Amino acid sequence: DSARYDREVKSVCPYCGVGCQLSLKVKDDKVVWVDGADGPANENRLCVKGRFGFDYIAHPHRLTRPLIRREGAAKGLNVDPANPLATFREATWEEAMDAAAYGLKTLGGQRVAGFGSAKCSNEEAYLFQKLIRQGFGHNNVDHCTRLCHASSVAALMENVGSGAVTATFNEIENADVAIVIGANPVENHPVAATYFKQFAKRGGTLIVMDPRGQALKRHATHMLQFKPGADVAMLNAIMHVIVEEELYDRQYVAGMTENFEAMKAHLAGFPPEEMAAHCGIEAETLRAVARDFATARAGMIFWGMGVSQHVHGTDNSRCLISLALMCGHVGRPGTGLHPLRGQNNVQGASDAGLIPMFLPDYQSVTDDGVRSAFSEIWGSGGFSDQKGLTVTEILDAVHSGNINGMYILGENPAMSDPDVEHARAALAKLDHLVVQDIFLTETANYADVILPAAAWAEKSGTVTNTNRQVQMGRPAVPPPGEAREDWWITVELAKRLGLGWDYAGPYEVFAEMKKGMKSLDNITWERLEAEDAVTYPVKGPDVPGEAVVFGDGFPRDGGRARFTPAEIVPPDEVPDAEYPMVLTTGRQLEHWHTGAMTRRASVLDAVEPEANCSLHPATLRRLGVEAGGTVRLVTRRGAVEVMARADRAVSPDMVFLPFAFVEAAANVLTNPALDPYGKIPEFKFAACRVEAV
Ligand code: SF4
Repeated sequence: DSARYDREVKSVCPYCGVGCQLSLKVKDDKVVWVDGADGPANENRLCVKGRFGFDYIAHPHRLTRPLIRREGAAKGLNVDPANPLATFREATWEEAMDAAAYGLKTLGGQRVAGFGSAKCSNEEAYLFQKLIRQGFGHNNVDHCTRLCHASSVAALMENVGSGAVTATFNEIENADVAIVIGANPVENHPVAATYFKQFAKRGGTLIVMDPRGQALKRHATHMLQFKPGADVAMLNAIMHVIVEEELYDRQYVAGMTENFEAMKAHLAGFPPEEMAAHCGIEAETLRAVARDFATARAGMIFWGMGVSQHVHGTDNSRCLISLALMCGHVGRPGTGLHPLRGQNNVQGASDAGLIPMFLPDYQSVTDDGVRSAFSEIWGSGGFSDQKGLTVTEILDAVHSGNINGMYILGENPAMSDPDVEHARAALAKLDHLVVQDIFLTETANYADVILPAAAWAEKSGTVTNTNRQVQMGRPAVPPPGEAREDWWITVELAKRLGLGWDYAGPYEVFAEMKKGMKSLDNITWERLEAEDAVTYPVKGPDVPGEAVVFGDGFPRDGGRARFTPAEIVPPDEVPDAEYPMVLTTGRQLEHWHTGAMTRRASVLDAVEPEANCSLHPATLRRLGVEAGGTVRLVTRRGAVEVMARADRAVSPDMVFLPFAFVEAAANVLTNPALDPYGKIPEFKFAACRVEAV
């Protein structure tokens, strides 16, 4: 092996929130292959993305020099990433940074907003939110958590007092029953799914709830393929049975929770015999699931974006929290609430304060004491006590003329936002857009200044996975050309905004973060270098972190968790004669989010090279289209043409469309209606028409 590589570097996978540790094998400053390493979340396992999706970092499309838009070059999706010089000219770092800072500084204050990144390190996320708050005096800073689990976090903060998971997913080893709802972990959290399958194989009761069939179905004791958008009806019916048959944990409810009497009264209105028609699941199945979950010794609930991305996403999570609480399935080994995080560092970026309403560690921007504590840590004057705007609100504010400049780090709203033509029009309207990324993304097409960044395998920093495990990332290869680490670029920008920042490296940023973040108590850079991963919270410098939390009370006033009843709220857009089907969107195994990385990873792109949608064979027959033929999907926002696959996992009135392909961009079609609490768009439900082409 030593002839095949010069060195190996231990780091973390750049894709999903599972946070698998891996070993990068390097020869002649190139990553030549990747093995799994023995991390706490993966125990040497990797999925196809972690193992084979690494060569995007050496792709010829990598940005290697700063770029400035040529005078008069039209903004739009018109740049060939292989030949950007027709639209942009190369610049020195000095010139590009001056131009980036001058444009933002000239607009100033409330007219500038920032999107940070859940793919950068904790230190980079922290610096980004600090730059917007300290540099522009307000909180208009957000990131893709808004499109992901914002509604789950809203419900968890409200009812449990903390937005993070209450137990690691590996705790399923100690569970007797587990619910996986609105998640397709075999494709989206594949290594976590291996633990779920092992759980089922050793006799655990696995309950899968999803409007789409999926690979986990064959391991499930119960598969509830419910009607899209009917989560609250189904979950309330299950809880109705638990109350009616007095299966709830009286001692736990009395000692650890509040508002149960109101919840009981509310649930009386949701008998399974009435809810069966709403959710498409027979009453007897709902009763069986209720009994299995409530009477188990230890149970866990896992959920994904099928729960969160609805106008009633927060209500969906409220139901899941209530279900776990009434059964006493929180705070013990093998119990817990676990929203499966999407991006590799969406947990860490949120913890670091990349959110318009929270400073680091979810401390409210409206709290005077919190704001002055951070102003003191930063050695600067204050900033606004008003909650900032969220991702979709910021783009609306661009349209209304209230925001004219943006700094976007590693996000791709020109692909990822709902009703994406609206987002693209907003980006085109900006007076000054600075984009910092590793590729010339669809969003960078609209930039005035493009700053070339180092990829994850080229830099050091910490990331936090879905399990609350803070992990050390290490550089394996140098960045190409003049590309630089994101933390360095943000610091240079801050210097030009007159903020006087001076950091020698990410370890100094981490040390500053610890001053304002109790979650990092007993976690030091040195400890992470030595141990590779530490779970927070952790009670001492030499003891492991806590895999399960809240066994002795919740971080709420009085220490009790709360039941919040949820009513049935219909989807924003219900099917009708013109748009009779339901469109739902998501990811697929080989591609990651907007495809910027995986479509440039040779193995992954070879396996799944073409934009595709999934339709039931009966729907294809009705349309007269062969599997592999082309269909047109039409919603009230727009239309795309895409290859159709026959897939019995979707019902005949449904179509599934992955969102990684720009040539059939799913978000041209999606509905921007928001959940009122988490402000998350309804990516999982749009009324749609399917036509033969
Ligand atoms: Fe990477 Fe997630 Fe796959 Fe692990 S499961 S290798 S973190 S994509």
